[in-house]
Amino acid sequence: MIDMRAKNVLVITPHPDDAESGAGGTIAKWAQEGACIVLVVCTNGNKGTSDRSILPEKIAAIRREEQKASGEVLGLSEIVFLDHHDQELADNDEFRKELVREIRRHKPDVVITIDPGRKWIRHRDHFVTGRVALDAVFPYARDHLAYPSMLENGLEPHKVEEVYLWGTDEPDVFIDIDETFEKKVDALYCHASQMSRSKEEGTSRLRERFSENGYKVHSALAETFKRLQLRG
Ligand SMILES: [Zn+2]
Repeated sequence: MIDMRAKNVLVITPHPDDAESGAGGTIAKWAQEGACIVLVVCTNGNKGTSDRSILPEKIAAIRREEQKASGEVLGLSEIVFLDHHDQELADNDEFRKELVREIRRHKPDVVITIDPGRKWIRHRDHFVTGRVALDAVFPYARDHLAYPSMLENGLEPHKVEEVYLWGTDEPDVFIDIDETFEKKVDALYCHASQMSRSKEEGTSRLRERFSENGYKVHSALAETFKRLQLRG
């Protein structure tokens, strides 16, 4: 198992609550083990409601507070809100540059984000985030000639060692979350505006879902990832 002491981890999530759902147990576990974990929230979640009486700015404000509360539960060191509107993320220079800036600022050993695979129906913000995050990791954050003005601001090139992708169809890493499953659920339920089920019912569904791969690491519960290793 990797030693997470003194490691820097950058988590890049499309919407508030996606990281908790895909990787919350691992994030909480690594934070407990001493990693410094920064979360980048790409959108403000302003279309995340079925309540027609709530304005987009209002739901975005609610979700920002929910994300902060969840960050406390997970043990995050910092949360960066990029504040893009829901369903408006694009694979463009503006978004890529923002992610490169955060990678160069926080210098993560490990980046955790969502698998950009786009089979069947998938939320567009999800695959755009995964794709742009991977491009930002390599080659844009690494190359000094990518966004040269960043050098003037002290944002030196940075090499990420590993990327972990949640929501993948091809998992090859299984992380035991027995000890942090409760924190994962608590963090998810900080996002009260997004929860349609009671916490009791939600917990049993999550337990069922994350028990599928536990046997691979001799635990009851495990989160699954596709790991990409980058060479120097
Ligand atoms: Zn999402």
